[in-house]
Amino acid sequence: MERVNCLIIGSGPAGYTAAIYASRANLKPILYQGIQPGGQLTITTEVENYPGYADGVQGPEMMVDFEKQAKRMGADIRFGLATKVDFTVQPYKVQIDDGDWIEAYSVIIATGASAKWLGLESEQRLNGFGVSACAVCDGFFFRGKEVAIVGAGDTAAEEALYLSKLCTNVHMLIRRDAMRASKVMQERVLNTPNIKVYWNTDTDEILGDKTVTGVRIKNNKTDETNTIPVNGFFVAIGHQPNSEIFKGVIDMDDAGYIKTVPGTSKTNVEGVFAAGDVQDKIYRQAVTAAGSGCMAALDAERYLGAKGIH
Ligand code: NDP
Repeated sequence: MERVNCLIIGSGPAGYTAAIYASRANLKPILYQGIQPGGQLTITTEVENYPGYADGVQGPEMMVDFEKQAKRMGADIRFGLATKVDFTVQPYKVQIDDGDWIEAYSVIIATGASAKWLGLESEQRLNGFGVSACAVCDGFFFRGKEVAIVGAGDTAAEEALYLSKLCTNVHMLIRRDAMRASKVMQERVLNTPNIKVYWNTDTDEILGDKTVTGVRIKNNKTDETNTIPVNGFFVAIGHQPNSEIFKGVIDMDDAGYIKTVPGTSKTNVEGVFAAGDVQDKIYRQAVTAAGSGCMAALDAERYLGAKGIH
């Protein structure tokens, strides 16, 4: 069985940054990319808020840069999905693609999270062309324009408020007659003049040929439909951390986010660290994920050093 000092699972900013640091610390890491090499940034368009790219960069291009840098430092980057883990005894074991197992003395989980989508064909077709699941990433492109947002949790409330500062009007589509968001966030939303809340409202279809031009909504109490002209459509109905294979092994919260010891990347299992969106439901930014990937590599290096594993 192949044995490695540091195994990294996931290839978003957290995974690649962990690979860069672990390689430079001579841990000779192997990184498995998962089903979506590059992670969530590969389904966004322009990234303007990642420091160092003065003129902005396309999300997929940025992730190619991350990968190149990790490779240049010596990381062994492989296509493959971790499908099972056994963290009972050292060295730990991780199964790849339901096939071979690999042994590792330290594991960095950087499997990310996936945005939940409504499941409409138009939503998929116009993704990146007016449809987005991240207001902080893409809101800027809709400055002075009209947008809609679906969702009623804290994320939707926060994103609606963010968008209200950039856009002329924000149409907030809520499927029930109440919001799930915290009271203070609800009040802020309801007291913002350019956020218009639509209760009991479903998204029937996102309209537009090449880019979003509007949204057809339906009141689920009266069945009445209406069209709102918008240029942007934001989906904020929650995220799903990609932590399924660690259930029952690694401590997580009710939503499946991995718990780490505050101020570190340490999980409840010694030698297993978590970085990026799989353990962060608050910030979810490329730069914060990269920062936590760095922390995980440094934590792994210290752990291996203390154990005398070289
Ligand atoms: P939530 O699961 O809290 O909310 C999801 C929202 O989307 C709900 O209002 C839900 O409606 C709605 N929704 C789900 N599916 C659909 C659908 N198919 N159509 C229409 N609406 C739908 O997710 P969040 O991302 O908002 O928050 C996740 C966690 O992170 C929460 O615990 C939240 O408090 C926390 N958080 C905290 C922040 C902070 O403290 N600053 C910031 C952001 C998040 P319904 O209510 O009807 O189920």
